[in-house]
Amino acid sequence: MSHITANLMAVRQRIELAALAAQREPEDILLLAVSKTFPAHAIEEAMHAGQTAFGENYVQEAVEKITGLAKLRPWLEWHFIGPLQSNKTREVAEHFDWVHSIDRFKIAERLSVQRGEFPDLGDLQLCIQVNISQEDSKSGIPLAEAEALCMAISKLPRVTLRGLMAIPAPNLDMVMQSAAFGLVRECFLQIKIKHLNERGYEFFDTLSMGMSDDMETAIAQGSTIVRVGTAIFGKRDKINA
Ligand SMILES: *Cc1c(COP(=O)(O)O)cnc(C)c1O
Repeated sequence: MSHITANLMAVRQRIELAALAAQREPEDILLLAVSKTFPAHAIEEAMHAGQTAFGENYVQEAVEKITGLAKLRPWLEWHFIGPLQSNKTREVAEHFDWVHSIDRFKIAERLSVQRGEFPDLGDLQLCIQVNISQEDSKSGIPLAEAEALCMAISKLPRVTLRGLMAIPAPNLDMVMQSAAFGLVRECFLQIKIKHLNERGYEFFDTLSMGMSDDMETAIAQGSTIVRVGTAIFGKRDKINA
């Protein structure tokens, strides 16, 4: 058995145990395999082990892999999870199924328009990235601005608003991690309850949080997508990580 296959089995077991501990159904948690910096053959290997959803951070690198694996496209689901600049939105609209890292209306608006150029594709699924670690304000919007951005995005055609995504600051202890995830969940639930019956919120069901080191804590706090790289594919080169 390859190390990727063995790692995938171990990660699935971690998800299952964390779900059971939280009295949740393991099937309600999607495992997103984060394949950034790893070659197409690693993705194929994971696919043969039953993995279908993959996450990428860099547009150029991702598009090369997606087009290289074009034959497998119908079985794969591609999620863009990295920072996204305006000049890269077209490629994302053309090649991806999901974007987790929306933190500006302008980016969502461009994706909406550009998705319209591909009538054969379904809607692009969007999550808003929130920033829950004030010291690192590189990406994500403050929780207090999430609802307004949701309201704006919910009205756009060809994109579907799915929920919130968060990356807590590294090196938090488990109590702080858990508190951070809990804040995102609270914000998500408040938005969901308030807009329950409005158009544009029919599929508002996603909390994208948890990675290799903190997936159990995230699942305990209601995560529905865990984004796992290292625990599946191994350590990345520092330069590209
Ligand atoms: C790289 C990355 C991951 C995966 O992190 P690991 O610690 O390797 O599991 C998850 N989410 C985002 C946004 C990433 O950039």
